[in-house]
Amino acid sequence: MPVPPPYASITPSPHLGDVRYEIRGALTRRARELEAAGRAIVKLNIGNPARYGFDTPAHLRQAIAAHLADSEGYGHEQGLEEAREAIAAQQRARGAQGVAVERIFVGNGVSELIDLSLRALLQPGDEVLLPSPDYPLWSAATILNGGRPRYYRCLAQSAHLPDPQEIEALVTPRTRALVLINPNNPTGAVYPRALLERLVAIAQRHGLLLLSDEIYDEILYDDALFQPLAEVAGAHPCLSFGGLSKVYRACGYRVGWLSLSGDPARTGAYRDALQLLAALRLCANVTAQWAVEPALTGRATIAALTVPGGRLHEARRAVLEGVAASDYLDLVPPAGALYAFPQVRAERLPQFDDNAFALRLLEEEAVLLMPGSSFNLPHSRYLRLTLLPPPAQLAEVFVRMERVLSRMAQE
Ligand code: PLP
Repeated sequence: MPVPPPYASITPSPHLGDVRYEIRGALTRRARELEAAGRAIVKLNIGNPARYGFDTPAHLRQAIAAHLADSEGYGHEQGLEEAREAIAAQQRARGAQGVAVERIFVGNGVSELIDLSLRALLQPGDEVLLPSPDYPLWSAATILNGGRPRYYRCLAQSAHLPDPQEIEALVTPRTRALVLINPNNPTGAVYPRALLERLVAIAQRHGLLLLSDEIYDEILYDDALFQPLAEVAGAHPCLSFGGLSKVYRACGYRVGWLSLSGDPARTGAYRDALQLLAALRLCANVTAQWAVEPALTGRATIAALTVPGGRLHEARRAVLEGVAASDYLDLVPPAGALYAFPQVRAERLPQFDDNAFALRLLEEEAVLLMPGSSFNLPHSRYLRLTLLPPPAQLAEVFVRMERVLSRMAQE
């Protein structure tokens, strides 16, 4: 018998059906339970520099403190003029065309702007080309805004770089956009210029909006070179995303930005739609935006920690050594960003399941990392861990991982 309305339960929207965000999902909740029960968990699941003793540069804190009294009212829906000027200057210096403060939007993190940019673009059934693996908000925001993700593969055997032919073969009359994450989360790939040129050519041939998530733009290892997509895209419409969370170690400030580059005549209506959506949520947190101009004009980026002797460089070295000493793991060394994405060799553990392993590693060895399949990857052999813990702790994590892998191999 149907339940009468006053007693019916509140059901969520079916739009959420395919939406997942495992980085803060069941595994993480289990880790919190274990912590509440007194266990010390090594957390490698989230790219939050402040949690691992990477402090936000002092001059950013000071800028915010100095402007508290100027931050009490709503601000411009696109962000503080000072912040947008600094972002525009950065984008122009990178060779982006058509950049202007009217085409910059500051948001509550890149997260908000990913959603906003897709909401302003998509009709139900429109398709978005996304990397697999991806940063799962890109898939979630596509689905929540009525779109359909079409995944292009970034396989380990091709250094996690996509194949432009494969991408082009996925284009249909419904395809609206091509999304890149460069430097990449979760794989650490950094896209060479020649590849970007081929991706831009695809976008030009099919009239696709380019969206480049460049939140890790300055986090590069060895001789990796970051190439901003906007420069390669030239007059072609391109959205470039950046923010304070990673490079400036200030995830909690919740400041991100997007810059719309290319021929303004081709994106006038789209820009207006972005502005309308930005206005509907009034403005981003004003206080934290005061950190943008000092961040972009100062020198205290996290890049200083990726050179030999720097904490991130040494963390990456500990990971490479851990993989080299392992009987089970393979890894494409990350060229950028804050993660390593090793895989478990099929010949050593043919039945390996990343979710089952991650749970065992948590329960048996008190280490929390993310299964690769959490990143919209249809394989169960990959694991993602962050490079943020101290190098010695990362070395210890590999000892613990090896113990669980050996136990699994013997069972
Ligand atoms: N894009 C990528 C690729 C990320 O890895 C993250 C966070 O981990 C974000 C966007 C979200 O960044 P924000 O803190 O600016 O919302």
